[in-house]
Amino acid sequence: MTSSAGRHPRRETPTTWVGAVPMGSEHPVVVQSMTNTATSDVAATVKQVEDLWRAGSEVVRITVNDADAAEAVPEIRARLDFLGVGAPLVGDFHYNGHQLLTAYPAMAAALAKYRINPGNVGPGKRHDANFLTIIDVAKDNGKPVRIGVNWGSLDQALLARMMDENGRRAAPAPAQEVLIEALVASALLSAEVAEEHGLPHERIVISAKVSSVPDLWDVYRRLAARCDYPLHLGLTEAGMGLKGAVASTAALATLLAEGIGDTIRVSLTPDPGAPREREVEIAREVLQALDLRRFAPSVTACPGCGRTTSTLFQELARDVQAHLKASMPVWKLRYPGVESLRVAVMGCVVNGPGESKHADIGISLPGTGEAPRAPVYQDGKLLTTLQGPTLVEDFNRLLDEYVARRYGAVASG
Ligand code: SF4
Repeated sequence: MTSSAGRHPRRETPTTWVGAVPMGSEHPVVVQSMTNTATSDVAATVKQVEDLWRAGSEVVRITVNDADAAEAVPEIRARLDFLGVGAPLVGDFHYNGHQLLTAYPAMAAALAKYRINPGNVGPGKRHDANFLTIIDVAKDNGKPVRIGVNWGSLDQALLARMMDENGRRAAPAPAQEVLIEALVASALLSAEVAEEHGLPHERIVISAKVSSVPDLWDVYRRLAARCDYPLHLGLTEAGMGLKGAVASTAALATLLAEGIGDTIRVSLTPDPGAPREREVEIAREVLQALDLRRFAPSVTACPGCGRTTSTLFQELARDVQAHLKASMPVWKLRYPGVESLRVAVMGCVVNGPGESKHADIGISLPGTGEAPRAPVYQDGKLLTTLQGPTLVEDFNRLLDEYVARRYGAVASG
């Protein structure tokens, strides 16, 4: 696993093991995702878990909503193991988790973690009994549990009680304040009950998801101040496309920059036919942009402006990015540390040489009125000057040579 760059001090949390994946402040922030296949469709679910895992999802959640899904889980685990797909599977339970987890012990054993929503375990007295049944299964199987509260399915009995108490106060708080407190309380009270029932402290992860970015910050800051459980961050129902990506990024990045969050999931609604892996790509980009983790070399490219007359630098930036992406599967094995490489592709002399010198290797293309030559800088010094129709290939070759020299030496040394 790529280690955290460690720039942002993390809130201290114990280590929770999700299968072989450690989660907590001593470890890099974990990227996770969730399938949208019917879990009972073993082939489709295996394929999607594999795709998500190969895209970089270190943990994958699947819904376990009925008997067919529960029966399918051991088979899914077995096929993934056969394919060499190590992603731990988290079971997502609502309403009938207590029944399924007890009726299908092989499913309970095959999962690496159980997600329980305290708002959806049953009403009244059944709530507590059902919740404790799930905790018993987790204890017996040595599994961690995520207590995952959600705005849309908040424990209504708890909310009603807190609203009543608030109403009796001399100066009642706004309803929104009570709602946020109820979310936090639901998660923490459930965790307390689980611990009192014997689930070890370090086997509890908490989440409390809402769909408004400022509300999410509010909820997680309160959670972070009141407990040391690892926190699973995610903006629920983030939406589609650009809107979902931006909202999730704003929500998660702010908290991560404050040191809050041990694992993240981007809940993106994919466009019809679009790959599910997009949510994993965004999660990784957020962590890489914050310098919390490094997954792949980064390309710094200027946006271009009126000083550039051609699209050459855009094409070069795109081609360099594509070259890095295509090379990474081999480079990762051959050149340890290559994910820290920084490349610059700049459009003119204004910021080109400066930015290129700050990168490990960078190129400054000629802008309007400049001589048609592109200086290449390596480790802050001018290496050579490129020009002509093979400029893109020439730069990629220099890039390959740089990677082999710098990171190959690490591998052999
Ligand atoms: S580096 Fe040059 S081309 Fe790129 S944005 Fe700056 S001024 Fe414009």
